[in-house]
Amino acid sequence: MKAHHFDSIEAVIKVTERCNINCTYCYIFNKESDLYESKPKQMSAQTVREVARLLANGALDTNAKHVRVIFHGGEPMMMKISAFEEMCKIFIEEIEHAATISFTIQTNAMLVTDEWISLFQKFNITVGVSIDGPKHINDIARVDHKGHGTYDRVISGVTQLFQAEKDGRLPAPGALCVIDPEQDGGLIFDHLARSLGFKFIDFLLPIETRDSMSDAAALKVGVYLKKVFAAWQELNDKTVTIRFFDKFYTFMTGFDRLQMIGLQRSNGVLILSISSDGTYGPDDTLRIVSDEYYTYDCRNTSIIEYLNNPAIENITLLNNKAPAQCQDCIWVGYCVGGSNHGRLVNRYSKNNGYDNKSVLCKSLDSVYGTLAKTLIDFGYDSDSMFDRLDKTASLVYAEEV
Ligand code: SF4
Repeated sequence: MKAHHFDSIEAVIKVTERCNINCTYCYIFNKESDLYESKPKQMSAQTVREVARLLANGALDTNAKHVRVIFHGGEPMMMKISAFEEMCKIFIEEIEHAATISFTIQTNAMLVTDEWISLFQKFNITVGVSIDGPKHINDIARVDHKGHGTYDRVISGVTQLFQAEKDGRLPAPGALCVIDPEQDGGLIFDHLARSLGFKFIDFLLPIETRDSMSDAAALKVGVYLKKVFAAWQELNDKTVTIRFFDKFYTFMTGFDRLQMIGLQRSNGVLILSISSDGTYGPDDTLRIVSDEYYTYDCRNTSIIEYLNNPAIENITLLNNKAPAQCQDCIWVGYCVGGSNHGRLVNRYSKNNGYDNKSVLCKSLDSVYGTLAKTLIDFGYDSDSMFDRLDKTASLVYAEEV
């Protein structure tokens, strides 16, 4: 069996497969995949232990020194606090002999209480809040099961999390915002950074395929991101980090701002998505295309066996190599046909499979150009930037994928 090495394993674990709200864009509950219906509502303590053993053995087998557990859902805070605490203890018990471990929770923050904050503090759980902007924008898609907006309840949780930061109980929460191409990215950035005080903001590219997104909508993603960029520049606060921009600058300059503030993600990360029944697969945005990659069982398929499975080898190759259509693009060494943003799915079409440019190609090209121009305007040497792109480009071309 072929050996594999990673710096760390990042496990996105669906500890609950139900949600207290019903976002219209949710790819789990409101798009093509209906896999969740057959899954337990909540991961049992027994399955938690089996998943933890999978990760511990996987870390040993791949030399990964760190395991990052991301509590995901559904809404992970729908679990009882006592069950959540038990789950954290099991992960620590099973994994700490094999690797260091850290916890993150991705939540809509609507169920935050002081008791939850104490639990986050006890286990050093960092909190990411899903929020799409001010009330009139957030509540377009982020609605509850009765169709009511959720903003006010989210803000109640966010306020408690920031208070916990002020009191020295928790690090500041981060914000995750799904890009809606119809909205004004600058206005959304201003709300998240200026009005609410988020310092770390991740704008997520839409989870769409070439078949599901129109060219017009795809173009607006670039307009959105450029408005975010302009608002970010205007704010001119170096403590506010936007992952999309920082990642680009880090690559182009080698200057590691994310590392300086403790947020660096290594390149050698194995990302796994794990369901409440203990089945697992790659980054789960591919679920909108097919459920075929998510059938590996933590009880009988080790991570090394999983990595050597031909279907997973193929998807890994697709992820790491750009399609032939990207061959002449100056950004290919960075963008890798969009998969550098975790969006292999943006390449997919029913006719060509993954052998396409990203549906967001024109937007990405335009945003990269804006970011690169800013670097050059700041006096950064363009030759070394393009030299870096050239060197990496040769690593990502794929003759056939
Ligand atoms: S910008 Fe477009 S052509 Fe260039 S690598 Fe990305 S998807 Fe491919």
